[in-house]
Amino acid sequence: KPVIAIVGRPNVGKSTIFNRIVGERVSIVEDIPGVTRDRIYSSGEWLNYQFNLIDTGGIDIGDEPFLAQIRQQAEIAIDEADVIIFLTNGREGVTAADEEVAKILYRSKKPVVLAVNKVDNPEMRASIYDFYALGFGEPFPISGSHGLGLGDLLDAVAEHFKNIVTEEYDDETIKFSLIGRPNVGKSSLVNALLGEDRVIVSNIAGTTRDAVDTSYRYEGQDFVIIDTAGMRKKGKVYESTEKYSVLRALKAIDRSDVVLVVIDGEEGIIEQDKKIAGYAHEAGRAVVIVVNKWDAVEKDEKTMKDFETNIREHFLFLDYAPIVFLSAKTTRRIHTLLPKIILASENHSLRVETSVLNDVIMDAVAMNPTPTDKGKRLKIYYATQVAVKPPAFAIFVNEPELMHFSYERFLQNRIRDAFGFEGTPIKIFARAR
Ligand code: GDP
Repeated sequence: KPVIAIVGRPNVGKSTIFNRIVGERVSIVEDIPGVTRDRIYSSGEWLNYQFNLIDTGGIDIGDEPFLAQIRQQAEIAIDEADVIIFLTNGREGVTAADEEVAKILYRSKKPVVLAVNKVDNPEMRASIYDFYALGFGEPFPISGSHGLGLGDLLDAVAEHFKNIVTEEYDDETIKFSLIGRPNVGKSSLVNALLGEDRVIVSNIAGTTRDAVDTSYRYEGQDFVIIDTAGMRKKGKVYESTEKYSVLRALKAIDRSDVVLVVIDGEEGIIEQDKKIAGYAHEAGRAVVIVVNKWDAVEKDEKTMKDFETNIREHFLFLDYAPIVFLSAKTTRRIHTLLPKIILASENHSLRVETSVLNDVIMDAVAMNPTPTDKGKRLKIYYATQVAVKPPAFAIFVNEPELMHFSYERFLQNRIRDAFGFEGTPIKIFARAR
């Protein structure tokens, strides 16, 4: 998916535009208690195009002076995006800070579409002509608060998608990434996985994405490790900011089939782990939880079980994710990881038979009657799988509003019991027939 970044000085309305563009989609994502969502990166859709959107304004760059911050955010846009929306404010005209942003964007080779926000009515349209001076061609008048002009803007952005080469790995290749807070051992784990007996096919330093993908083959299966942290150009101020590393992780998750959530077995689980795990779940990726540094843990026969219970309590939303205990350092138990990655990936793209699915649903209904509301009972007619990665099921009913959350959860569990789906989230939607 192409990545769009919104860049511009403070107060031009970046977050408003971000929410306008992604808004609808985000609202259907279920909320995970305790996990605050960083609204800096989200997916959107326009016509037949799917893309991801970054609000660079959401990435604060510490104590840098004002102009330096704006510059850094423009640099992030250039580094991370395929197309840049340069946002300005029609009420204030072209400012020195706008010119500063323009200067930086001008030096990059990334396509830039200029938008003039807060053009709330036709009378204000005359104000946009000054913005030609920024040197990015036609300015697009928009109004974030009124939702005007976004269609034309996104058309112009989508024009540039045609020239973007998106990576292509074949469908059989399993793409995975490792996420976790610093020092849990992600790099060590990559090295351990790529030990001597693995044939590394290639090391592609992404030109546009600036991530390093390592392709390798093991026992006839092709894998790609999408590495976020490694091989970055060092020295940019924003590289060390927390939001930026979150952004990089979210990008890697987005390109993965399977996400390994790496935890430090020696230190245990902290709040940040939970947040990071939440990202993987929300993105709908298959998940394997890896407890690393197991060599450094003093153990008895109960230790592993206790740790597992602890993980389950902290990551309630990841109840489907298998847990692997290992040591990247000694490589002990490392051989148990790949089978779980493969299993999770297979389940992530598993399609079940419609007839069997309907048997499962009807059995469930017979066992536990559908809910009623104001004397009206939910009727389930038919279920079908509508998507994979992750598997999603449409349940056709008389009135979708009658589908109670707890009943939906019950059906989800029955489907899980019947088909397994270990390692992958699944989704259910009630639809009117
Ligand atoms: P990253 O920041 O998540 O990539 O973590 P690193 O791979 O750089 O590892 C951080 C530190 O943990 C290093 O000092 C590693 O040597 C150490 N480490 C990594 N894996 C293990 C392990 O399995 N056991 C032990 N005892 N230490 C480990």
